[in-house]
Amino acid sequence: MTVSLRDARSAELYARAVTYLPGGVNSPVRAMRSIGRDPLFMQRGAGGEIFDVDENPFVDWVCSWGPLICGHAHPAIVKAVTDAAQCGTSFGAPTAGEVDLAEEVSRRVPGVEMLRMTSSGTEAAMSAVRLARAATGRTKLLKFAGAYHGHVDGLLADAGSGLATQGIPASPGVPAEVAASTIVVPWNDPDAVVAATEAHEFAAILAEPFPANMGLVAPAEGFLELLRARADATGALLIFDEVISGFRVSRGGAQELSGVIPDLTVMGKVIGGGLPAAAYGGSRALMARIAPAGDVYQAGTLSGNPLAVAAGLATLALLDGEQPYLKLAAATHALADGLAEAAGSAGYEDIQIVSTTGLLTLFFSTEPVTDYAGARGCDRDAYASWCRGLLARGVYAPASQFEAWFPSLAHTREQIERTVSAAAAAFAEVER
Ligand SMILES: *Cc1c(COP(=O)(O)O)cnc(C)c1O
Repeated sequence: MTVSLRDARSAELYARAVTYLPGGVNSPVRAMRSIGRDPLFMQRGAGGEIFDVDENPFVDWVCSWGPLICGHAHPAIVKAVTDAAQCGTSFGAPTAGEVDLAEEVSRRVPGVEMLRMTSSGTEAAMSAVRLARAATGRTKLLKFAGAYHGHVDGLLADAGSGLATQGIPASPGVPAEVAASTIVVPWNDPDAVVAATEAHEFAAILAEPFPANMGLVAPAEGFLELLRARADATGALLIFDEVISGFRVSRGGAQELSGVIPDLTVMGKVIGGGLPAAAYGGSRALMARIAPAGDVYQAGTLSGNPLAVAAGLATLALLDGEQPYLKLAAATHALADGLAEAAGSAGYEDIQIVSTTGLLTLFFSTEPVTDYAGARGCDRDAYASWCRGLLARGVYAPASQFEAWFPSLAHTREQIERTVSAAAAAFAEVER
């Protein structure tokens, strides 16, 4: 049975939007082109649910692509933000919350003694790279195919995420000289890392320790340790981009889970609790190179914005102790098990479910996915068909095979069950 979605108001808004906004959106993956439809315009969210402008309710597994680990409009976060707004929205002078947040982050993340806040993960990644170049006196970067570090010129090569979704390998407008200083190797390929680090002197090896922008692809046993060892052996810095994994896969992020501590850590998403905030940090010795303590320039009018800091602090407070992570892990497991059952009940075998606390991807692939080539080899038409089937049944999943699902502390058992029944029905109608 094909179910369809009421979307007259979204369609009307989209028709206006395309006149003034490229593609009708302010960030490409929102456009839903890769699943063959136009975007749905949202008007409100509560916990694990969102409502579009046509009043369709959806169980939301996108959760703003990562920041909303406590779900939509959590009362404590809304209160923190509105209280902060009452006192003024920006000063261009330091505020107490920034010190509190820096302390909270450094208490949690093993590799961060000192940090600098920015307004986006892109800015934080760009600034961490600048610092690594200043500290090493080198230019070249090693990155992994399918890893996304924001839309920084030098980091767009084979960048997964929205580029993969739109079928864009890199971007026009990036100078060839800039692209040439980035070497890209396959994820989970130790020989390629060894060969590249023998052939080039890198300022930094840059990795998402739990890559989640080609779908979720776990690091192979020993791979993160190899990155640490190769960085140490060759004088490169190791940068972990924990914009997604930070405060999510565990309290202290992937570095706490794996015990592999990077020189610099890039953070975003959860750290801003749904408002624009991000940060980069590392040892005090390295971070002391940043102006005005040191000579590496980096600045931002709204960096450490009081509203964003309040949302970040309220979010981290809700993540205190072990309980929230046990709960998030349980929700993620229930979702993963439910989706596997749904596929089984529909007789659909060609899938791989990868999950870790707070993250999940369902690949339409007969083989386990260990790198970007594997992710690109998935049956994207099947994913698109399944995803449309989910939407029609009130489940909002990432409109791309290359993005992760974001279980939150707000998702209820009932919402997981609703997702699983929708998934079973959607599997049954996947065109194959
Ligand atoms: C989202 C993301 C970024 C970019 O963050 P923005 O705030 O969108 O600029 C960087 N790295 C990773 C791993 C991300 O997932």
